[in-house]
Amino acid sequence: MAPEVSFTSFKNIVNGGFRDAKEHTYGHNPATGEQLWDVPVATKQDVDDAVQAARTAFKSWRKTTLAERKKTVGAVLDVYKRHFREFGDLLLKENGKPTVFADGEAKIIIDQFEFYLDLKLDDEVIELKDRTCIKRWVPVGVVAAILPWNFPLANVGGKMIPALLAGNAIIIKPSPFTPYSALKFVEIAQQVLPPGLVQVLAGDDRLGPWLTHHPDVGKIAFTGSVASGKKVMEAASKTLKRVILELGGNDASIVCPDIDVDEVAPKLVRGAFFNSGQVCATVKRVYVHQDIYDKFLAAAVKAVNAVKWGDPLGADVFLGPTQNSMQFTKVKDIYDDVKDKGYKVAVGGNIAPGNGLYAEPSLIDNPPNDARIVTEEQFAPMLPIQVWSDEEEVIERANDSKMGLGGNVWSKDETRARRIAESLEAGSVFINGVEMLTNHAPYGGIKESGIGLEGGPDAIKGYCDVQVLHTNIR
Ligand code: NAD
Repeated sequence: MAPEVSFTSFKNIVNGGFRDAKEHTYGHNPATGEQLWDVPVATKQDVDDAVQAARTAFKSWRKTTLAERKKTVGAVLDVYKRHFREFGDLLLKENGKPTVFADGEAKIIIDQFEFYLDLKLDDEVIELKDRTCIKRWVPVGVVAAILPWNFPLANVGGKMIPALLAGNAIIIKPSPFTPYSALKFVEIAQQVLPPGLVQVLAGDDRLGPWLTHHPDVGKIAFTGSVASGKKVMEAASKTLKRVILELGGNDASIVCPDIDVDEVAPKLVRGAFFNSGQVCATVKRVYVHQDIYDKFLAAAVKAVNAVKWGDPLGADVFLGPTQNSMQFTKVKDIYDDVKDKGYKVAVGGNIAPGNGLYAEPSLIDNPPNDARIVTEEQFAPMLPIQVWSDEEEVIERANDSKMGLGGNVWSKDETRARRIAESLEAGSVFINGVEMLTNHAPYGGIKESGIGLEGGPDAIKGYCDVQVLHTNIR
């Protein structure tokens, strides 16, 4: 019989068992401000113990075949499915996502399992006159996954599943703002996993650097801000750890004059404001051709007015609160800057008073190129809309960013759309659509938006080194 699982008690998991701590921390429900459950603050000793247990688990796991690993990892999915509903509720409370999106994230991890469990990891053979070369995908060893707060559970799946299938052990470190779903997920996975293979540590700001500096961690799979990503890479360089860095973005969306305004404006607005704008790859700047600018802005304002926002438990609510007070301070700063500089607010523009970390969905009418709302990743439900007239010039403005995560082009003219899309300096570009990332295609940033790829048919290889066997046994 499956053990009882409590969704109101949370502990770190080290070597297959619960690990509490002297110090505790907790998250908040961003919709209500309510303090959530205690979680342990991991110590350096916990990190050392987890890395040691991971190395031990890795020794046996690396010897298993891909088919055997798939069987074990598939069993984790079976356990998870039994608790699917509870994870939706947990995500709602810890993240503030409206119910439909919290359930949506709980479902994403199922899709991730199903996609990754179908992948292959075949050797590649190169035949030469004097030998055969066999290119093998070998595991790195101990992976540390460091996660942000905007998708607390989807980021566990996106890293853990391919890392395990590659033959690695993994230690997961959730964001201090959203530790709960990662802690609970790893706890239930212990029902079917060998001890030490998947562990989870919640903690404070010391925990990430302990992992990135640990000499026995072989790879860091990091998702977070550009600033933290640079620190991770610096720490990793000390022992030449491998890194995947999935970092921030400031995605430009270029709207051509031939589009159907009434169709595109609402799509674009809802795409930008999904998850309260707290999405790495989403529309963050909009450039609309001068011939349709006024009409587009009017349609976008109408679309914003139609967005239901507020209490994530409310019926049909699309836009909930900002996830945490640190981020809310940043959001407030951006909203204040728009007011202080006197930029034209087409709709919204205010931080909502009262409990909960709410900001009004807002559009800013043609702010200057150097406005913070244009140059910075706002991670908020506020969008700048600017005018363009010359294709070359708008591409230059779109590319005038150190980031290069995503981008979009909207046009009915395929040749023109392709031409603009191919000129954008971004890892994923979407023609006539917002950034709907899929497991089936790789994703990652260029420029300062990151290094390495996640997802796609080669996802398991992302957690491997390559070994080449040169053999002349005939
Ligand atoms: P963050 O960089 O503040 O924190 C991310 C994680 O890194 C947290 O777990 C944090 O504790 C840890 N961390 C912070 N400093 C560290 C250090 N020096 N060493 C090791 N770990 C450290 O980011 P955040 O605010 O949690 O997330 C928002 C950012 O993440 C946004 O910029 C967003 O665009 C980006 N993001 C990117 C993707 C992607 O796939 N490219 C996906 C989601 C979020």
